[in-house]
Amino acid sequence: MASGLFYRMGNLYPLLMQPGFDPRPWGTQDLSPIYPNHKFGEKIGEAWLTGDECKVSNGPLAGKTLSQLSQQYQQELVGDAARDPKRFPLLLKFLFPHEKLSVQVHPDDAQALRVGEPWGKTECWYVAHAKPGSQIALGLKPGITAAQLEEAIHQTRAEEVLNWVNVYAGDMIYVAGGTVHTLGPGSIIVETQQQSDMTYRLYDYGRPRELHLKDGMAAVKEHVKSGKVIRPAPIEREGGRIRFSRLVEAPYFAVEMFECKTIAPFGEEPLRWPLVFANVLQLPSQSQPASFGDRERWLR
Ligand SMILES: [Zn+2]
Repeated sequence: MASGLFYRMGNLYPLLMQPGFDPRPWGTQDLSPIYPNHKFGEKIGEAWLTGDECKVSNGPLAGKTLSQLSQQYQQELVGDAARDPKRFPLLLKFLFPHEKLSVQVHPDDAQALRVGEPWGKTECWYVAHAKPGSQIALGLKPGITAAQLEEAIHQTRAEEVLNWVNVYAGDMIYVAGGTVHTLGPGSIIVETQQQSDMTYRLYDYGRPRELHLKDGMAAVKEHVKSGKVIRPAPIEREGGRIRFSRLVEAPYFAVEMFECKTIAPFGEEPLRWPLVFANVLQLPSQSQPASFGDRERWLR
């Protein structure tokens, strides 16, 4: 079982989000070990935990969408640092690539402003599982220009100019807006990103899906600060019963990993951003969200 769970102080309580399962041609019907007990009749590529239309499944707010709650609670829910107090600022998903995804790019903040959007889309990927040989593409090979990328797209050989990287379970990869990127098959990814719909498909290996070349090439940056993040040594707390690592910190989000053998005292520091929790480990089938800890402890 996996969950997106977040809270702020005040009237809100820890919210368990129903995942939204998104069918994709590159997905799979088997989402274990993240969702081992679900049966799907079609291929699922993404499980959305904090999309605008994701619904709460516990407590008095059960059935409300995140969009409704963001409008209603504003900073109390979305945090003081969110640029739009009426929109939840983070999008968290599990990705289940079983075939190659299309090659795409999201604009950075500056490019998004140029096309009339409030912000861009920087994201990061935590590799929860990876089969041997799993790869991603991140940016262009050294020396390749955007013009050469565009030429390669027209010649249906863009994969040759991309920077392919092997990935392993435990990797954290930072994908700045403007970075050409894609996922190969064989991994399970926890994706954290700015809440934005702006994705431009640049290349699809000759498959017939629509491309967005004009807008996409305008968003492509040749030089980006994207790549694997060096993982810090975990910090032990509570006599080693909690191991904590900050995997990445960006202007838009921080992703931290907790391995807990005891109740973790989350929320003891002031929060500028909402906290979102995603379990990447298989839990016993009887586990309930309350297994995170009693609410008083969570909320102080
Ligand atoms: Zn992306």
